[in-house]
Amino acid sequence: MCSGRVDMGFIIRAFENGIDGVFMGACHLGECNYITHGNYQAQNMVLLMKRVLEYIGLNPERLRINFMSGAEANVFTESVNAFVKTLKGIGPVGKAEGVEPAELKKRLAEVKKKIPYLKIANREKLAGRLEGHDGHENYFTLEEVTKQFTEPFSYWIDPEKCQACTTCARRCPVDAVISAKQQIHIIDQDKCIRCGTCFEVCPPKFRAISKMEGAVPPPPPPDQRAVVKKAKEAAAE
Ligand code: SF4
Ligand code: SF4
Repeated sequence: MCSGRVDMGFIIRAFENGIDGVFMGACHLGECNYITHGNYQAQNMVLLMKRVLEYIGLNPERLRINFMSGAEANVFTESVNAFVKTLKGIGPVGKAEGVEPAELKKRLAEVKKKIPYLKIANREKLAGRLEGHDGHENYFTLEEVTKQFTEPFSYWIDPEKCQACTTCARRCPVDAVISAKQQIHIIDQDKCIRCGTCFEVCPPKFRAISKMEGAVPPPPPPDQRAVVKKAKEAAAE
């Protein structure tokens, strides 16, 4: 599998399954045969996920990417052996960090839920091309990752502006928009991962979605959610 195809979700799934570490062998930077150069993206993703592991209390050394060609079996062997040695030094996942299995499961689930948001919030950096392998440890900082997990903001649909075009509901990655034909749409705040996609895709002629700090206003009661009825009311005025 191309290293650029390795998703953040694969790494989280490995740790959920109790794996002590994840090693990725990628082609040398600048030697990808395709214009996509997915190995740069793989390196960026690993740098981000190292900070995410740190945020949830796991040793970031549990994730490693090394670069090699298909002809460098010796490099592969040495890299894997060095990684296994590192992992043995760290110890079993969670236990070595003093994180109970149930708590680790909860933290990993939180990260998994946030992956679509992490991809959007970090998209420019994730798509960048860092030259060389070293010196990039703080390309993503623990501070910015922490903020992305803890910043208190919400997205809210203004019932006065929503025209039930369904665009936000179709584009939401976690089905957090309560959608029905000709009904004002509502964001389920418990399901929403604050990715901002709905905010970006709501047509400019409606601009019905706002980003706001703190609690959002309550949704309109069920008998006041019909968009058609509201339009008729407006025409009758
Ligand atoms: S995209 Fe905007 S106008 Fe369309 S349903 Fe969503 S909130 Fe309403
Ligand atoms: S911000 Fe919008 S698109 Fe993103 S999860 Fe929340 S409701 Fe869905």
